[in-house]
Amino acid sequence: LTEQLYLTDSYRKELTAIVESVTEAYVVLDRTIFYPRGGGQPSDRGYLNSKRGRVEITDVQKEAGEIRHFFTGAAPLVGEELSGMIDWELRYAHMRHHTALHILCGAVYRLFGSTITGSQIYSDRARIDFRLEDLDRDRVSKIVDLANSVVREGREVSQMYVSREEAMSMSELIRVDPKLIPDEPVLRIVEIKGFDAQLDGGTHVANTAEVGKISVSKVQNKGKSNKRLEIVLERPSINTLL
Ligand SMILES: [Zn+2]
Repeated sequence: LTEQLYLTDSYRKELTAIVESVTEAYVVLDRTIFYPRGGGQPSDRGYLNSKRGRVEITDVQKEAGEIRHFFTGAAPLVGEELSGMIDWELRYAHMRHHTALHILCGAVYRLFGSTITGSQIYSDRARIDFRLEDLDRDRVSKIVDLANSVVREGREVSQMYVSREEAMSMSELIRVDPKLIPDEPVLRIVEIKGFDAQLDGGTHVANTAEVGKISVSKVQNKGKSNKRLEIVLERPSINTLL
């Protein structure tokens, strides 16, 4: 499988890679920084330069054990080296919204013991579904207040690889039924220091301060014990980032 550079360095914006295979629709590389859609996070976009010209990458999907970069333009050649960039503004928006959702996961669990049933990330908003019977105005503000305190605290966000046994011993922190922990020898965990840890394959900011202030833009009932929050983010002030 293609080496997935975004898993260990989500801030990497430029790539050089070798074409392993190509069709009229997509190209497979030996390594990539392009995130393939999955886990509620949309795919990256960007471009790659080949000898035959520039191709725009419009979608990236993991399928049949391959990471397929769908392109428009003249197909690159097998074996040639391509160089290119991801659309960083789009990716960074996905990173900030993804980390915001993990903060909210931690908040609803700490406050009400709620577990997550679904989530979706966009570049300008995100939503999260969780199990909770009663969600009133007071509870919504408790969730948002706790989440924003985690943003203000500027907690470190990091990814680590642990053995399945280690993940089992962390199952309380990652809140997954040990039976649901994937049967793989090594698992990736994204941790918000001292607050939350989850099995995750997405890209995140390095510090919760980069998320910016979280506001709730929509509250929805999705069934008796299933609630949905949609959130939007304020751009963090430059002072927070320095
Ligand atoms: Zn996630």
